[in-house]
Amino acid sequence: MFKLETALADIKGLPPRFVPRLKRLGLTTVRDALWHLPVRYEDFSKIYPIAELQPNQHATVQGVVQEIGTRRSWRRRMTITEALIGDETGSMRAVWFNQSYVSHALRQGKFVSLAGKVLESDKGLYFSSPAFELLGARSGETTHTAGLIAVYPETRGLTSKGIRYLVKTFLRAAPRLADPLPESVRVRAGIPELNDALRAIHFPSSIEEATDARKRFAFEDLFVLQLFNLLQKRRLAREKAPAFRVTDEELAADIARLPFALTEDQRKAFAEIVADLTRPVPMNRLLQGDVGSGKTVLAALAALIAARNGCQVALMAPTEVLARQHYHTFRALFAGLEVPVAFLTSSRAEARYGDGLEGEPTKQRLKKEIADGTISIVLGTHSLIENSMKFKNLGLVIIDEQHRFGVEQRAALVRGKDLLPHFLSMSATPIPRTLTLTLFGDLDLSLITELPRGRRPITTKIVAPENRNKAYAFIRDEIGRGRQAFVICPRIEASTDEEEPKDPRAMLWQEVRTVEEEYEKLSKKVFPDLRIAMLHGKMKPKEKEAVMAAFKRREHDVLVSTSVIEVGVDIPNATVMMIESADRFGLAQLYQFRGRVGRGEHQSYCLLFTQSSSQSTARRLKALLEAKNGFELAERDLAIRGPGQFLGGKQTGLPDIAMASLNNLELIRDVRTAADALLRESPSLAEHAALKQKIAAFKTSVHFE
Ligand code: ADP
Ligand code: MG
Repeated sequence: MFKLETALADIKGLPPRFVPRLKRLGLTTVRDALWHLPVRYEDFSKIYPIAELQPNQHATVQGVVQEIGTRRSWRRRMTITEALIGDETGSMRAVWFNQSYVSHALRQGKFVSLAGKVLESDKGLYFSSPAFELLGARSGETTHTAGLIAVYPETRGLTSKGIRYLVKTFLRAAPRLADPLPESVRVRAGIPELNDALRAIHFPSSIEEATDARKRFAFEDLFVLQLFNLLQKRRLAREKAPAFRVTDEELAADIARLPFALTEDQRKAFAEIVADLTRPVPMNRLLQGDVGSGKTVLAALAALIAARNGCQVALMAPTEVLARQHYHTFRALFAGLEVPVAFLTSSRAEARYGDGLEGEPTKQRLKKEIADGTISIVLGTHSLIENSMKFKNLGLVIIDEQHRFGVEQRAALVRGKDLLPHFLSMSATPIPRTLTLTLFGDLDLSLITELPRGRRPITTKIVAPENRNKAYAFIRDEIGRGRQAFVICPRIEASTDEEEPKDPRAMLWQEVRTVEEEYEKLSKKVFPDLRIAMLHGKMKPKEKEAVMAAFKRREHDVLVSTSVIEVGVDIPNATVMMIESADRFGLAQLYQFRGRVGRGEHQSYCLLFTQSSSQSTARRLKALLEAKNGFELAERDLAIRGPGQFLGGKQTGLPDIAMASLNNLELIRDVRTAADALLRESPSLAEHAALKQKIAAFKTSVHFE
């Protein structure tokens, strides 16, 4: 009897040389092996009479070994085992290379089952290295032949056959497993029980059975994720936060003070934020909208409400440049108001005090002023909350591009106080709604899908290779008019998450422009008279920031960069975004790049270069030309690439099988309904120990950012 936790290394009878091979597949325990799910099945379900075989079909044949023998081929340095198999209708050959043990396993006169692809030679039809097994007395039961044969992720020295053998052994010997999915949930969702599903996914008797089993595992993972989210949400709802008071007059005055009218989406999102802030429970809201859609403005309005209520606000951005930018936005919006606002990073401290005085206090001094409440609003990088920062009365935390902010994190910031701060996450990463609901189901969602009126759409063009020089001439014109340009090149390493050319040799043909090469070329040959700068991931953060700052001050005309160029950096004077090897970037990434331009009053352009002529490149780039906003584009990208590719390197903590279901709306809806229903029936999940355990395990493995 095995336990699920039994290490594979401790299994008697498993040859030790397999242990490192299994480990290469990430399998170290019996559980890992059982949850190593097939990627597909080969259909050998039909047992064919030998006389009816056709070349190139997959088939199972059952018959008697009429002859078998192994010979050595000196010329080809291998052993060849050849057998003749016969049934009532005829006979055929089967050959195996370097598997001389086959002739010991399949003796003359034995009844065997063979499965493989039928090949044809001048001596007739034959199998090459077919899967085989003896039928003997226990005739009928097969593992490797007949029926649907599971194909697994394999590794050198460990084939699907080996894995099937192992899994079969474990399924036979493992104890009956407790199903974390309660029966009521399974019945309502119409999905099989765990033990049945495990058998069915590894050894299905039909494709339907395998599909149901697969659905069950996806359901289970998404269900656990959903419960995790709902429990988080419920836990937060039991906490207390300062309920801010705000009058309609104050709100109207704040909005009227803006140099523009809010868009309809901004109004709606702001109303949702205000409603949260006035309730005595912590807000947990994700504000999603394209770069430039006006999220920061809403964050500033929210900060103002908190400050007026005597609470402090911390706003964190991923980089110092972005934090500075927010600081300037806030200062501009609060001009004339007596709101003390400060900027604090590891290298700088600045403040504008309530009396309008500007200052550059020491960091220590500023920290003290934050601790004693002199400062109302502080902006900085994520390290603001990571460090041992003390606030007098923190009431609102706003974070750019970090989706989660748990109860513990909040509590750590307000040590000893019984009111937790509200949390607003701003994200310019367009994520399709299905994914947001699933991955960030504990957050309330506000969307801004429209850009402020009067924003000119960016002209996007796919440039044919022969028009490259025209594109350079165009850039030169724009620079002549005082504008600036970005040139983005993929890094070679960055290409792995994109569709690679199937044939590795094609890589050699595909021109991969590295930033250095491009920088050389542009600064020496194409634009020797212009000021070109370079930005890439190997530079130190300080160096990167210095280059960006100089570009912003218009000290460079063209910035050649890898994808490290930051989301949200505002260079209103830049009007051209030129992207090399555009096919190597994800759609969302291209969209983000394009969002770097079109931020000022000038018409802006996005020029896409590609050497790829593949259909899918064409479809993706076309989607970029057509999509009205980031959400629509994300939906299309998800549809074209599927969730796994779409999320790319992003860690979700979700197993592949659940990932693959993230765009299955129907399943996601079923999961949500089931999770809601279960928590209503059993708020503490007390009777569901196995499920609780899974949720706890999930908690330690999730990381969504
Ligand atoms: P985001 O944070 O979503 O990138 P911001 O709030 O920084 O967007 O806004 C981008 C720019 O658009 C800023 O210069 C801001 O002042 C301006 N802006 C925001 N909302 C509007 C609006 N409703 N009408 C016109 N301009 C706006
Ligand atoms: Mg922004």
